[in-house]
Amino acid sequence: MARHTEAVCRLCRREGMKLFLKGDRCFKDKCSIERRNYPPGQHGRRRSKLLGYGIQLREKQKVKRIYGLLESQFRLTFARAERRKGITGANLLAELERRLDNVVYSLGFAASRPQARQLVRHGHVTINGKKVTIPSYSVSKGQVVAIKEKSRVNEQIKASVETARARGVPGWLDLSPESFAGRVVELPKREDIKLPIAEQLIVELYSK
Ligand code: SF4
Repeated sequence: MARHTEAVCRLCRREGMKLFLKGDRCFKDKCSIERRNYPPGQHGRRRSKLLGYGIQLREKQKVKRIYGLLESQFRLTFARAERRKGITGANLLAELERRLDNVVYSLGFAASRPQARQLVRHGHVTINGKKVTIPSYSVSKGQVVAIKEKSRVNEQIKASVETARARGVPGWLDLSPESFAGRVVELPKREDIKLPIAEQLIVELYSK
């Protein structure tokens, strides 16, 4: 477990920024980026030299890593965001937040997005009572995302829900911890997304 954490945190150190890949740990002092409090090694030094295209590319890589998307999936998501009315950057973040794996993580059923993805793939998650195994599924207003009844005895899931209860869930979701379920009260807005993301840089990158 410690080795896995190390490997995951190494990605953040390589990028010289917090990518929030380890769930609760990322919000505590245990986070290796917090402990170091400076961008690591040669990549940290390289960061200061990044300009224009480099900064935009780096922001895209960061967002891809946070949400765990491949390049092709990210491009599709961006294309969907562009087609929607409104500001493309904000639409992009909303599309990413609406992914089922992200919702499972945000409701606290998993300690990290990768773990949430695994829960969905392994059939532990339902939407409006029906099993859904597609992590990229985009939730809609009014839907109820829940942990399958049989899976609610899982100690890891129980511990995650307790942690989420203490930390709170985003305003666009409503968690009922006792029933291991959460309702999508409304679709996420830009101000609901607290991650340090400069989405405009990604829009600029794709506009070139
Ligand atoms: Fe590790 Fe999370 Fe900190 Fe990244 S943000 S270094 S994944 S604890």
